[in-house]
Amino acid sequence: MDHSSPEPAHAPHDRHETSLSRATRAVTSGRPARTGGAPVNPPVVLSSTYVSAGVPQPGEKLYTRAGTETWEPFEQAVADLEGASEPGIVFASGMAAIAAVLSFVPDGGTLVVPRHAYQVTLGFADDLAARHGVRVVRVDVAETAATVAAFEGADLVWIESPTNPMLEVADVPALVDAAHRAGALVAVDNTFATPLVQRPLELGADVVVHSVTKYLAGHSDVVLGLAATSSPHLAEQIRAYRTLHGAVAGPWEVWLALRGLRTLALRVERAQANAAELARRLQTHPAVAEVRHPSLPTDPGHAVAARDMDGFGAILGVRPRGGAAAADAVVDAVRLWVPATSLGGVESSLERRRRFSTESLTVPDDLLRLSVGIEDVDDLWADLDGALNRIVAEPQQS
Ligand SMILES: *Cc1c(COP(=O)(O)O)cnc(C)c1O
Repeated sequence: MDHSSPEPAHAPHDRHETSLSRATRAVTSGRPARTGGAPVNPPVVLSSTYVSAGVPQPGEKLYTRAGTETWEPFEQAVADLEGASEPGIVFASGMAAIAAVLSFVPDGGTLVVPRHAYQVTLGFADDLAARHGVRVVRVDVAETAATVAAFEGADLVWIESPTNPMLEVADVPALVDAAHRAGALVAVDNTFATPLVQRPLELGADVVVHSVTKYLAGHSDVVLGLAATSSPHLAEQIRAYRTLHGAVAGPWEVWLALRGLRTLALRVERAQANAAELARRLQTHPAVAEVRHPSLPTDPGHAVAARDMDGFGAILGVRPRGGAAAADAVVDAVRLWVPATSLGGVESSLERRRRFSTESLTVPDDLLRLSVGIEDVDDLWADLDGALNRIVAEPQQS
């Protein structure tokens, strides 16, 4: 490449760039053109409107709800990491992106969803059933044959893998293949895995969505979402939905998310290594009844995850001995781990999922979901081990 000529601004599919690893592209994608005096980072443009007169030209910026240059570097960087040939479409939250993709299900249509998935996604599906006559079929995505049997007549198959909070792993290529033969679109919520660990579009899915709030932004300081696809037609529909419904992202939030994305590879690498080590240690802890993490060779999702993913993610499911009261006692006893919902931040956090009355009743009431961060693994272990030892020493009344 001739570096004396300016490169096109934010060109994610430049041949030079796609030959680089994803860890590198998380750093290089969505940069301004490398011309003398240009900023290294894209500027934040704070303007709700643009100077314009006469008949608008195609692609001309007019009004920020329909598009602003501050979204574009982030949209291109995430699309690049996901292997999407269309730019991503950023939204004000993960749920806004999910709502846009679920709009592909027509009134009276059929939607297949995992029985364990992000609670608000399942709530949205229930709302589609109640208000739009959508037939919602819940499946165990780890059971491929039974899931495929539910695809007849489906308009959209929604997949999370690994699932929230049970960490079940779906055979995404097999499900995509069967869904496409049944004439359904496939959307994958890739929030838990991140594009460094799993690329649903490469596995055949039509659309991928993210709660950018979690790993992509990575610092628990913004709420944001994104959808990405390689279909120009679907991208256009999602973008039109965003403009019509108006759940648009603020420029500062998108700038923070792009800043977070620059360290995604480091954060995910460290968090995954911590999670796998903690899973291994927890497995033999006397106060632990069960550990779920696909890194464990004994985990039901291990084989498929080892085949289709470039890692196992950094979310753990842990069931302490002694039921929900013991799980609550662990959350009370930790001092380093943060008792909080959400996940994917640099700080480690945990919560008992069934404290929410909306959580699926097939999630055990003693299940703790741990979002493993980037702290020193021995500090994380000492805090958790201490909390677990206390419930052995002082059994809880349940
Ligand atoms: C948090 C989350 C969402 C929702 O995203 P928001 O940014 O909170 O709207 C969707 N899916 C998964 C897997 C999540 O963890």
